[in-house]
Amino acid sequence: MSTNVVVSMEEKAVADDLPYFPEKFPGKVCCLCNLGEKSALGQGEILQLKAPAPAEIKDKYPTDRLREDGSRLFYGAKQAASSSGDCHYELDKIGQPDVVHPAEFLDEGFVYVHRMCIMWSLRKSQISDADAAYFATHFAEFLEQKCNFCGRYGASINCKMNCRQVHHWPCAAAAGCLLILESFTVFCTEHLSQVPVICK
Ligand SMILES: [Zn+2]
Ligand SMILES: [Zn+2]
Ligand SMILES: [Zn+2]
Repeated sequence: MSTNVVVSMEEKAVADDLPYFPEKFPGKVCCLCNLGEKSALGQGEILQLKAPAPAEIKDKYPTDRLREDGSRLFYGAKQAASSSGDCHYELDKIGQPDVVHPAEFLDEGFVYVHRMCIMWSLRKSQISDADAAYFATHFAEFLEQKCNFCGRYGASINCKMNCRQVHHWPCAAAAGCLLILESFTVFCTEHLSQVPVICK
């Protein structure tokens, strides 16, 4: 938003309600960051991906199941997307407070994700049909990952050093991680010292 224009609070509230560009999928939110197309954090457009049948998802992710470490996973409730108007607090609204069952994100046969959120999750600059299909059947794994920055679930951006730090895409930048666009490589703040070693 331009800082050269001074507007009253009232006018500003109205301006914030107007989309900056026509939304392709109004009201839809990203399954990872839980923000919409109007998000001001740079995630790009929302992509609509064909999702597997709900039965397929439920088979793969039973509603009550054991994790690899033997603990039992209980799914929480999906938090509704916040009203998209007050973008200043978007960082507080990223992700889900609990692990949510992937079936909750199926919306009339589709799942929605931001271009940047999926590109950096899969580390690909072009998302082919095969990539989209892969993501639609595997995004549940990201729903179980807690973001090191905001502490909420849906984190999909791993550190190059395979450490435990994982972030939502907008949180990775906010946390001070290094994001290298050419290779879609991310270094968390603890591993910034590895950058000259790995990327020489
Ligand atoms: Zn997103
Ligand atoms: Zn986060
Ligand atoms: Zn790291």
